[in-house]
Amino acid sequence: MGVEGSRSCRFVADAMLKNIVSWLRILGYDTIYWGGGDREVLGIAEAEGRVILTMDRGLAAIAARRGLRAFLFQENDIPGILARIARELGLSLSFDPRHTRCPVCNHPLNLEHRSGREEWVCPGCGKKYWRGSHWRNISRTLEEARRRLSNSSTT
Ligand SMILES: [Zn+2]
Repeated sequence: MGVEGSRSCRFVADAMLKNIVSWLRILGYDTIYWGGGDREVLGIAEAEGRVILTMDRGLAAIAARRGLRAFLFQENDIPGILARIARELGLSLSFDPRHTRCPVCNHPLNLEHRSGREEWVCPGCGKKYWRGSHWRNISRTLEEARRRLSNSSTT
Protein backbone atom coordinates (compact mmCIF):
# COMPACT_ATOMS: atom_id res chain seq x y z
CA MET A 1 0.00 0.00 0.00
CA GLY A 2 2.97 2.34 0.32
CA VAL A 3 1.76 3.80 3.60
CA GLU A 4 4.70 4.97 5.65
CA GLY A 5 5.59 7.06 8.65
CA SER A 6 3.49 10.03 9.59
CA ARG A 7 1.71 9.96 6.23
CA SER A 8 -0.38 7.08 7.51
CA CYS A 9 -2.67 9.59 9.27
CA ARG A 10 -6.13 9.64 7.72
CA PHE A 11 -8.77 12.34 7.90
CA VAL A 12 -12.44 13.02 7.32
CA ALA A 13 -13.49 16.65 6.88
CA ASP A 14 -17.05 17.89 7.26
CA ALA A 15 -18.95 20.10 4.83
CA MET A 16 -17.69 23.42 6.22
CA LEU A 17 -14.06 22.42 5.82
CA LYS A 18 -14.32 21.07 2.29
CA ASN A 19 -11.40 23.14 1.02
CA ILE A 20 -8.85 21.69 3.45
CA VAL A 21 -9.31 18.29 1.80
CA SER A 22 -7.24 18.92 -1.34
CA TRP A 23 -4.40 20.43 0.72
CA LEU A 24 -4.05 17.36 2.89
CA ARG A 25 -4.19 15.18 -0.22
CA ILE A 26 -1.41 17.20 -1.87
CA LEU A 27 0.65 16.62 1.28
CA GLY A 28 0.02 12.88 0.91
CA TYR A 29 -2.61 12.33 3.61
CA ASP A 30 -5.58 10.09 2.91
CA THR A 31 -8.43 12.57 3.34
CA ILE A 32 -12.09 12.37 2.50
CA TYR A 33 -14.84 14.91 2.56
CA TRP A 34 -18.24 14.09 4.00
CA GLY A 35 -21.11 16.46 3.26
CA GLY A 36 -23.76 14.34 4.97
CA GLY A 37 -24.93 14.18 8.56
CA ASP A 38 -22.91 14.05 11.77
CA ARG A 39 -23.80 10.43 12.38
CA GLU A 40 -22.17 9.34 9.10
CA VAL A 41 -19.04 11.38 9.81
CA LEU A 42 -18.72 9.69 13.20
CA GLY A 43 -19.35 6.28 11.65
CA ILE A 44 -16.68 6.76 8.99
CA ALA A 45 -14.16 8.07 11.52
CA GLU A 46 -14.77 5.07 13.75
CA ALA A 47 -14.79 2.43 10.99
CA GLU A 48 -11.77 3.75 9.09
CA GLY A 49 -9.71 5.23 11.92
CA ARG A 50 -9.95 8.76 10.54
CA VAL A 51 -9.32 11.98 12.44
CA ILE A 52 -12.34 14.30 12.23
CA LEU A 53 -11.86 17.90 11.04
CA THR A 54 -14.87 20.06 11.76
CA MET A 55 -16.19 23.53 12.53
CA ASP A 56 -19.18 22.04 14.34
CA ARG A 57 -18.83 22.26 18.12
CA GLY A 58 -21.55 19.65 18.68
CA LEU A 59 -19.91 17.12 16.39
CA ALA A 60 -16.53 17.63 18.06
CA ALA A 61 -18.11 17.09 21.48
CA ILE A 62 -19.81 13.83 20.47
CA ALA A 63 -16.57 12.62 18.87
CA ALA A 64 -14.70 13.31 22.11
CA ARG A 65 -17.30 11.40 24.14
CA ARG A 66 -16.90 8.42 21.81
CA GLY A 67 -13.13 8.53 22.14
CA LEU A 68 -12.60 9.65 18.55
CA ARG A 69 -9.90 12.13 17.63
CA ALA A 70 -11.40 15.38 16.37
CA PHE A 71 -10.13 18.87 15.64
CA LEU A 72 -12.52 21.78 16.06
CA PHE A 73 -11.67 24.89 14.06
CA GLN A 74 -13.13 28.38 14.54
CA GLU A 75 -12.25 29.65 11.11
CA ASN A 76 -11.56 28.20 7.72
CA ASP A 77 -7.97 29.38 7.48
CA ILE A 78 -5.87 26.92 5.47
CA PRO A 79 -2.34 27.68 6.77
CA GLY A 80 -3.65 27.87 10.35
CA ILE A 81 -5.49 24.58 10.09
CA LEU A 82 -2.50 22.80 8.53
CA ALA A 83 -0.12 24.19 11.17
CA ARG A 84 -2.35 23.08 14.05
CA ILE A 85 -2.88 19.56 12.69
CA ALA A 86 0.85 19.20 12.02
CA ARG A 87 1.75 20.42 15.51
CA GLU A 88 -0.67 18.18 17.37
CA LEU A 89 -0.16 15.04 15.29
CA GLY A 90 3.53 15.55 14.51
CA LEU A 91 2.96 15.61 10.77
CA SER A 92 5.18 16.91 8.01
CA LEU A 93 4.05 19.93 5.99
CA SER A 94 6.64 19.36 3.29
CA PHE A 95 5.52 18.35 -0.16
CA ASP A 96 6.95 14.96 -1.09
CA PRO A 97 6.78 14.26 -4.84
CA ARG A 98 6.78 10.50 -4.15
CA HIS A 99 3.96 10.61 -1.61
CA THR A 100 1.19 12.83 -2.86
CA ARG A 101 -2.46 12.17 -3.60
CA CYS A 102 -4.91 13.31 -6.23
CA PRO A 103 -6.58 16.54 -4.98
CA VAL A 104 -9.73 15.47 -6.81
CA CYS A 105 -10.19 11.79 -5.90
CA ASN A 106 -7.67 11.03 -3.09
CA HIS A 107 -5.93 8.20 -4.98
CA PRO A 108 -2.11 8.06 -4.52
CA LEU A 109 -0.43 9.59 -7.59
CA ASN A 110 2.24 7.98 -9.73
CA LEU A 111 5.29 10.17 -10.29
CA GLU A 112 6.67 10.12 -13.82
CA HIS A 113 9.48 12.01 -15.48
CA ARG A 114 8.63 13.31 -18.93
CA SER A 115 11.09 15.36 -20.95
CA GLY A 116 12.87 16.54 -17.84
CA ARG A 117 9.86 17.56 -15.84
CA GLU A 118 7.97 15.85 -13.06
CA GLU A 119 4.47 14.79 -13.85
CA TRP A 120 1.93 13.04 -11.70
CA VAL A 121 -0.69 10.70 -13.08
CA CYS A 122 -3.74 9.60 -11.13
CA PRO A 123 -4.59 5.91 -11.60
CA GLY A 124 -7.98 6.64 -10.01
CA CYS A 125 -9.46 9.36 -12.23
CA GLY A 126 -6.85 9.69 -14.98
CA LYS A 127 -5.96 13.32 -14.26
CA LYS A 128 -2.41 14.58 -14.84
CA TYR A 129 -0.61 17.18 -12.76
CA TRP A 130 2.61 19.15 -13.04
CA ARG A 131 4.11 22.22 -11.42
CA GLY A 132 2.27 24.80 -13.51
CA SER A 133 1.54 28.44 -12.80
CA HIS A 134 -0.67 27.50 -9.83
CA TRP A 135 2.28 25.85 -8.14
CA ARG A 136 3.58 29.19 -6.86
CA ASN A 137 0.37 29.70 -4.89
CA ILE A 138 0.44 26.17 -3.55
CA SER A 139 4.01 26.45 -2.28
CA ARG A 140 3.32 29.91 -0.82
CA THR A 141 0.44 28.53 1.24
CA LEU A 142 2.51 25.57 2.41
CA GLU A 143 5.38 27.92 3.33
CA GLU A 144 2.99 30.04 5.37
CA ALA A 145 1.71 26.93 7.14
CA ARG A 146 5.28 25.83 7.97
CA ARG A 147 6.13 29.34 9.18
CA ARG A 148 3.19 29.30 11.60
CA LEU A 149 4.12 25.82 12.73
CA SER A 150 7.69 26.84 13.57
CA ASN A 151 6.50 30.05 15.27
CA SER A 152 4.04 28.15 17.43
CA SER A 153 6.62 25.57 18.52
CA THR A 154 9.23 28.13 19.58
CA THR A 155 6.91 30.33 21.63
ZN1 LIG B 1 -7.69 11.26 -9.23
